[in-house]
Amino acid sequence: MSVLVENCRLAGGRVGSVYVEGGVIERVSNDPSQDVAEGTTRLDSHGGALFQGFTDSHCHPFEMGWLRGNVDLRGTANVTGVRMRIQAAVARAREGEWVVGRGWDHETFPAKRLPSRDDIDDLTGKNPVVLTRVCGHISLLNTRAIQELGLEGRRGPGYDADPHGRLTGIVRESAQDDAFSRMPARSGQQCLDDLLSIELEAVRGGLTTLHCILSEDGFKGELEALAMLASQEDHLLKYRVYIPSMAIDYVENSRLRGRLSGERIRVNGVKIFADGSLGAGTAALREPYADDPSNSGMLRHTDEELADLVEKAHSAGYQVIVHAIGDRAVEQAIAALAPVSGGGNPKRHRVEHASLLPRDLRSKMRKLGLRATVQPCFITSDTWAAARLGEERVNDLYPIRSMLEEGIVASGSSDAPVETISPVVGMWAAMTRGGFAKDERLSLRQAIDLYTGNAASNGFDEGSAGIGEGRRADLTLFDSNVEGMHPALLRKVGAAAVLVDGRIAYAYEGA
Ligand SMILES: [Zn+2]
Repeated sequence: MSVLVENCRLAGGRVGSVYVEGGVIERVSNDPSQDVAEGTTRLDSHGGALFQGFTDSHCHPFEMGWLRGNVDLRGTANVTGVRMRIQAAVARAREGEWVVGRGWDHETFPAKRLPSRDDIDDLTGKNPVVLTRVCGHISLLNTRAIQELGLEGRRGPGYDADPHGRLTGIVRESAQDDAFSRMPARSGQQCLDDLLSIELEAVRGGLTTLHCILSEDGFKGELEALAMLASQEDHLLKYRVYIPSMAIDYVENSRLRGRLSGERIRVNGVKIFADGSLGAGTAALREPYADDPSNSGMLRHTDEELADLVEKAHSAGYQVIVHAIGDRAVEQAIAALAPVSGGGNPKRHRVEHASLLPRDLRSKMRKLGLRATVQPCFITSDTWAAARLGEERVNDLYPIRSMLEEGIVASGSSDAPVETISPVVGMWAAMTRGGFAKDERLSLRQAIDLYTGNAASNGFDEGSAGIGEGRRADLTLFDSNVEGMHPALLRKVGAAAVLVDGRIAYAYEGA
């Protein structure tokens, strides 16, 4: 397939055209068009900006797709509203299949009463059902679900019971986690459906490549889905895959690594958790939380354990990416990665999030050549950050400009489904920021770099870096000339077309 992208602004600058054949950029011209062979597909850009393909360097597409398949219960005004949506979902489901919903809020119901299994059992006898409240901390199970999870005899905190001691179906907090951990894992086919269901949204946003983080409890089905995908050609995106550390032996023994080592789908690395999140108060801090002096968060591992996990993944040949949000966790991650980062960090080991990153830690990362992925949308979402960290320390939260200017290769990402997968929304957040550390706002060029050059480098994709002859034709064409555009407008920009390996993965009608 050959494609001519006409009348575009090359990397957002001068007008030109790009001819693509066989997955590679063949000719870049300063003329708005070129003479090309008959049969070439022409994409008129109308002056829109053309960039190398955008990459989201940390997201959870399987989880995103799974959530999308759930029944959306937001906005239901009463139990009848919940029942109607569940009835429709059960009618679509196969017998025995789990039906999962989310978003009800009994505070908005007339009686403000928590629903019980008796409210839904008559509709859902053949399917186990779990309906999570809008907050995520309380769920309603139907009788079939209670039976399948083996919870009927459970009593105690977290398991609501009526005055006769019978479970109502409401489970809270750790009881809910316990129930969820017993739910059957998604099959390979279900995972594949989940993954494919998000592709269009991702390419529409301008993405060509996702760094796909697999889950700790569902990685087998997810790997099976990726292996199925690798044997077919009709998916839209490229995937760079990061497996949890407990999956290393499984991947090696099942020879999946060889099967998942192509240009479209490739296992890149291993993800390891060092701590939790700021929102939950589980990110590990050097000093206690400002709004809770008794809490400094928690590390998942001792220093030795983390170093061992890192060493195991590194010596098996993987890029190691360590989730670290609090400054104590980042410090621990740096210490664990230091011994395997010699010679400028050729394996490109990364710190994921690196959220609270004061100058001394930035300097250590730079000296070791450690990479980072950042999530600009967290800046605008974490409206409580100053209260949680204090006015002083919050200035070291998401210091993206300092990271870039001090020489840390940081790449942009969404952590979707936590935030929207749209990279222009991420760019907007990086350029405007919320209420703190305004000095860390990025220029448009820096924001683009996060999702293009830096993201490609952080995933070993420099073959796609830049719009140059001989480069792989992963290209993102925006519907506007973004140069000089106000960030508020930039946020609304969409992709006019996306090419992945020279094939049109997406084209806005009429482009
Ligand atoms: Zn994540």
